[in-house]
Amino acid sequence: MFNLMATPSDRGDNGRQTSSIAVGVTDSATLEFIENVTRDAAILQKELLFAILRRNYATEYLAALGLDGSSDDYELFKRVAPPVTYEDIQPFIKGIANGDKSPILCSKPITRFLTSSGTSGGERKLIPTTEEELDRNRNFLKLATLVMRQVTSDAACLKILNFEGWRRVQVYPWTSPVEAIVCDDVFQSMYCQLLCSLVNRRKVVSVGAPFPSTMLRVIRFLEEKWPQLLRDISEKKLTGSMVTDVAIRDATEAILAASSEEDEEGQAELLAKAYESCQENGGRDLIKRLLPCAKCVEVTVTGTMAQYVPMLQFYAGGLPLVSTIYGSCECFCALNLRPLSSPTAISYTFVPTMAYFEFLPISSEPSPENLVDLLNVEVGKEYELVVTTDKGLYRYRVGDVLRVTGFHNSSPEFQILGRKGALISIDSEKTDEETLLRAVQTAISKELDGTGFRLFDFTSMADLSTVPGHYVLFWELRSLGNTGQSRSSCIPEASVMEECCLEMESSFDMVYRQGRVSEKFIGPLEIRVVSPGTFDALMDCCYAGGTSMGQYKTPRCVNSEALIHLLNSRVSHSFFSPK
Ligand code: AMP
Repeated sequence: MFNLMATPSDRGDNGRQTSSIAVGVTDSATLEFIENVTRDAAILQKELLFAILRRNYATEYLAALGLDGSSDDYELFKRVAPPVTYEDIQPFIKGIANGDKSPILCSKPITRFLTSSGTSGGERKLIPTTEEELDRNRNFLKLATLVMRQVTSDAACLKILNFEGWRRVQVYPWTSPVEAIVCDDVFQSMYCQLLCSLVNRRKVVSVGAPFPSTMLRVIRFLEEKWPQLLRDISEKKLTGSMVTDVAIRDATEAILAASSEEDEEGQAELLAKAYESCQENGGRDLIKRLLPCAKCVEVTVTGTMAQYVPMLQFYAGGLPLVSTIYGSCECFCALNLRPLSSPTAISYTFVPTMAYFEFLPISSEPSPENLVDLLNVEVGKEYELVVTTDKGLYRYRVGDVLRVTGFHNSSPEFQILGRKGALISIDSEKTDEETLLRAVQTAISKELDGTGFRLFDFTSMADLSTVPGHYVLFWELRSLGNTGQSRSSCIPEASVMEECCLEMESSFDMVYRQGRVSEKFIGPLEIRVVSPGTFDALMDCCYAGGTSMGQYKTPRCVNSEALIHLLNSRVSHSFFSPK
């Protein structure tokens, strides 16, 4: 029988490995495990779907499709189960969230809801989960950390600094006390994590955050709090009033005290010198200079995150940017088995024990007969990912678009292209996330590069208060090589900004350009330049609304009134497409 939660030593009936990874497993066992599951992908996938259906056939959802626990269930499911979106299953989820304990989607008790950041829709989704699924996720993260050892080496004294707020898999020890990692107050958490890593800086082997927005926010926060951090490092205690949580204070002060015993000579002075020399170049190389033993920056730089690569490289000082996993609240899916690939060459490999994976070819109708199995995807083609999980998601459309780049054994490797569906729209034209991102990148490379400015972050909205409506891009710009204080005052010449508007419009599709030029249902695109710190404030506003530090990704389109108000209140200049 297929064991959904087997350990590395467990073998299937025929000696096949069917497992996730366990504590203490060696690197070679990890790599062997990956080899085995990717080689046996077809049979593991089939067994996994059998097991999921056998366990859950009596749920309200599957019973309504006609499943009855018989041997025909597998074929029946494949024939009739429709690919669904979150909105389709929301009524079931609401029932569970409202306390209905009957088996609605899953036969096992739902022990908690994960909140997805709802990357493109703006709204956060509630994804039910079980204890068993959480264990599976922990094991997957452990697997990812073990794969990362190819980069970070195996030295026992090394530690990692990762601003996540949720991953508690300790393959390497953390620099941060657990009290700081799980603290609900993002700022107290960030402060103490920075402090603990700086006093242990010669042991930090890897620094990271799941997504670039958080990594960059941490760097900004470090710059803001630098004098206070330095004071605390020098005095070996928390001297300010910022950290009020007693547990996190005690844990941090214990680390500060312990670090003094093995303190390098004049640590605070050395740090101050390193920091000052970076600031002379606007913060260039800051990570490498402050954490000199770090071997990489672990952060996602694929898909729509690719735009942050130049900025991250600016601070990383030559350290490789390493993206390890592809996953979501719905399920963890795939690993990057070549962590040192350059950002544009990164492919992820599906781990076939994580979920039952199917693929909807782009521009096909979402119907059962159009779904393609893991084994039958074609290299070079683009698909939307559809998952079936043990926690009650059946043919659930995750919303990400992937391009297959090859196979590792029998398991597909892929690149992430972005989210499916319209992001911003005025009329009949629909611009998706990938197109918007490409347009911004083209404008930057053609018009902004070489002007001494870089785009720090951006978002967009459809402004329907004008007639005709028009696209608005909020841009936060930074001046390269500036030391900080004059960052707000200068922006590129108006003609450069207008060309950026035009360049973006030229990158949009035919429907947009017709709507803009001949049919005139779209007005000229506008860039509103916002003051420095605006995107930090946007992130803080989302944190206040409950988004976790580990999950935050800058929304590429805003529709909440509060966020739009915040952005508009910080606009310093506005430019329109000239033609
Ligand atoms: P959440 O459910 O809030 O954790 O967000 C998950 C989403 O983040 C995924 O559906 C993707 O759109 C995005 N994501 C996750 N991993 C990656 C990755 N490695 N590269 C690019 N985007 C990713």
